[in-house]
Amino acid sequence: MIAYSSRCLAALCLMLAWCGQGAPASAPPVRVVVSFSILDDIVRRIGGSEVVVTSLIGPDSDAHLFEPNPDQARLLAKAQLFVVNGLGFEGWLTRLTRSAQFGGVIVTATDGVAPITTTEPGETSPVPDPHAWQDPRNGIVYADNIARALASIDPAHADAYRQRFQKYKADLEGLDRHVRAELGAIPGERRRVITSHDAFAYYGKAYGVTFLAAEGLSTDSEPSAKSLAELIRQIRREGIKGARHSIPTPCRGQTGRPRPTSEWSNTTPPP
Ligand SMILES: [Zn+2]
Repeated sequence: MIAYSSRCLAALCLMLAWCGQGAPASAPPVRVVVSFSILDDIVRRIGGSEVVVTSLIGPDSDAHLFEPNPDQARLLAKAQLFVVNGLGFEGWLTRLTRSAQFGGVIVTATDGVAPITTTEPGETSPVPDPHAWQDPRNGIVYADNIARALASIDPAHADAYRQRFQKYKADLEGLDRHVRAELGAIPGERRRVITSHDAFAYYGKAYGVTFLAAEGLSTDSEPSAKSLAELIRQIRREGIKGARHSIPTPCRGQTGRPRPTSEWSNTTPPP
């Protein structure tokens, strides 16, 4: 009887130990902060219910004009993973991570992307264009970096992150084929677009579209009268005509959905 009870107790202990070891379902979600809305979307696609994400820059804000505040530093201090675009997009990055005393993992989503460089008017040295997400193939690089980071922080769900990455990759490859086929039907000399902010170089390079912009890589200053006059001259010279369409640029807001900025800070981990 004693021996039987001991065996039962041992079995029970083993079961408890086994349940405690695995327990991915009851593990608290990985707390992620991202700089802006595109990264928010990718983290949600890859992380699923295993992550809680907050974007510092809301979907209706201009990322180029963003300045972090003390509340956002406190929010970042509690995060395990901070995902940024890189290529100079977050000029405030070091200031914020220092002020937050951030001790988690920072992932630069553009690691591995071949940057397009450009020399801004009035400047002498070229700078990388940060808008790399406009090419869906770069979106795959972003997602891969994010999936790897999540797997390293939360190895119990590494397979789930990898599987979601594969699905997302297939979706982006499908999108790339679709855009290529649609634009392929338009003669190359007619693939020209006038835009306010020079945010489409990666898209233009991927699909053979020429973008003419009044503003440069950033939106921190209004276009000068000289650059506007030059743009108008170029439009006339090249005989560009066409209907007006609004193309939202995520770095300037107008996309995504409103979301509380401290969504995950109020999340109670499951028992
Ligand atoms: Zn931009």
